[in-house]
Amino acid sequence: MLSIHSRTKSPVERQRMLRTAATALTVLKRRGPIWPLKLLITATGCRVKGMPRGIMVEPTQGCTGHCTGCVRPEVPAVMAPTLLEEWLDSAPSKPVTVHFTGRHSDPLASPLLQELVAAAAERCMMTSISTIGLGLTGGIAGMKVDRWIVSIPAATEASWKPLRDRDSFDDVMDAIDTLRRRSPAMVEVVLTLWKSSERDGEAFEELAVLNGWKRRQVVFGRYDPEGQSIGRVENLALGHPSSPYTLSPEGRPVLVREPRGCPLAGCVFLTAGGTLLPCPFLTGDGPREDRPSEEAWRRASGWREAKDSRSFAACRFCP
Ligand code: SF4
Ligand code: SF4
Repeated sequence: MLSIHSRTKSPVERQRMLRTAATALTVLKRRGPIWPLKLLITATGCRVKGMPRGIMVEPTQGCTGHCTGCVRPEVPAVMAPTLLEEWLDSAPSKPVTVHFTGRHSDPLASPLLQELVAAAAERCMMTSISTIGLGLTGGIAGMKVDRWIVSIPAATEASWKPLRDRDSFDDVMDAIDTLRRRSPAMVEVVLTLWKSSERDGEAFEELAVLNGWKRRQVVFGRYDPEGQSIGRVENLALGHPSSPYTLSPEGRPVLVREPRGCPLAGCVFLTAGGTLLPCPFLTGDGPREDRPSEEAWRRASGWREAKDSRSFAACRFCP
């Protein structure tokens, strides 16, 4: 039987590895010539011990987005830096990357983001943050992270307005500009295509050239089967010829093509409440670990096969 570590990489996973390599080059310039050796040792440690090489961390359940129709918790959980430290310190091997991100939330809504980043930076080789860009302050922009990914839902003000109920287009453009001026990190801008922005590809290119965004990509919005966030069926870019979704006769989004493997095979997800999950998209139908311990990490290392064989209900909607 093919070992799960020697299996063929999916295109998404290959793309992710290329982006990680590009980030690594940026980090190398900043951290000096010994850093690649440390990176190699850490990556080898993860492989030998069968541990995930990447940890995605949700700093808070809060969000600064105010998207139309998004239902947010009244009292959002906020991850304490000590809890993140406990999880990272109990891992049998250090992770290569710690990536701060949200799942129906945004890292910039956490009042403790700087402390979380500092805790992670001491315990991994690369830190990165995915955000919608709203709520960025000068202090946050100056943090020592290795990569920022700013996700925008549209590239014109007209296609932005139906998605975000506040006129925040200019605020996000300012945030990207601030990051590019103040942060030592690689800054990437990602356009997520939704129904109102499904024809924004050209406008995005113009915006990128105008603002000098060197690193950019275009992705499709993901279906949210819970129907609470921006990923509701009515927002999907189903009219785009390359949309990963089409509608079933019952009107439910289904994937156009059956993808192989899991795009997040080498990562796990830590919620703001401190629960370790196989990925950000499983909300109850998969395994979980609620307390940090070496045994919890060992059990989590066994999730990879179920992820790759797309065994969970949420995998049906994962492009
Ligand atoms: S849809 Fe996402 S970005 Fe928008 S408010 Fe909700 S959680 Fe935030
Ligand atoms: S939903 Fe399934 S395929 Fe998608 S990232 Fe999660 S485990 Fe992987």
